[in-house]
Amino acid sequence: MTGKVYLVGAGPGDPELLTLKALKLLKSADVVLHDDLIGPEILGFIPSSTQLHSVGKRCGRKSISQQEINALMVQNALLGLQVVRLKGGDPLIFGRAGEEIEALRKANIEFEIVPGITAALGAAAHAQIPLTQRQVSSALVLVTGHHAGSDEFADWPAKIPNDATVVVYMPGYDYRSTAQQLLRAGLPGDTACAIISQATSLDEQIHATTVEDLHKSPRLPAPTLLVVGEVVRLAKPAGLRNQFGWLTDAATAFPANGDYVSDSSVSSGAQERAE
Ligand code: SAH
Repeated sequence: MTGKVYLVGAGPGDPELLTLKALKLLKSADVVLHDDLIGPEILGFIPSSTQLHSVGKRCGRKSISQQEINALMVQNALLGLQVVRLKGGDPLIFGRAGEEIEALRKANIEFEIVPGITAALGAAAHAQIPLTQRQVSSALVLVTGHHAGSDEFADWPAKIPNDATVVVYMPGYDYRSTAQQLLRAGLPGDTACAIISQATSLDEQIHATTVEDLHKSPRLPAPTLLVVGEVVRLAKPAGLRNQFGWLTDAATAFPANGDYVSDSSVSSGAQERAE
């Protein structure tokens, strides 16, 4: 009998953000094919009797091609094995799942997709950034800084509304070009943004700045995400508030009645009434 393939999201890094379903499948799989971004704690849930293959592609340098990964999934399923293809975050977000789905359909292999917490959501939760906020941000745009395997910028929406939060996956370190892309898409230079490194892990670091000053940012360790939008000014961690200067303490920024008040120096829409 043919086996089944599960495309499973492992979440952003914190092993406790793995779903129960992912955990169950990791414990029962015959074969696990995992990405580089999967940390040792999560790999530690996999029994030692399970066949474990690292099929990661780092920084566009291909150690194993997508075709080879597809072939590994198909061949193992044809042997009657239960295969888990474990991906960071959610499998359907910048995870090449589309190509794997196509290969599985073509080979007539039964498969199931198990969602995971995508990096943007994990990072926002840790930094306490509301990705949408009444009167500040009414849309969430997920874009990727680089095409897989090349240094070129991916196609971005021609126009990003000023009241959208943008999360740039794979932003790379060419912050000047990223800022130019954001300005070209219509965002004002003083829009707040934050680079979030190793989100949800113990080594998480956040650097807050604005689009026009983005090029002065330090190179934080990968993986990093760039969150862009006035909602970044609502972030809670003390370090982040200090970087923005005008949000002096949480009590001023978030008074008990829910109104968001701030220094007169804030000129953005973020000072308007919060939810
Ligand atoms: N499918 C994944 C994204 C894969 S693309 C997801 O849904 O999250 C890989 C990119 O995701 C990285 O280059 C980085 O931009 C982002 N990323 C993944 N985990 C991250 C983390 N813990 N902290 C910051 N960014 C992360």
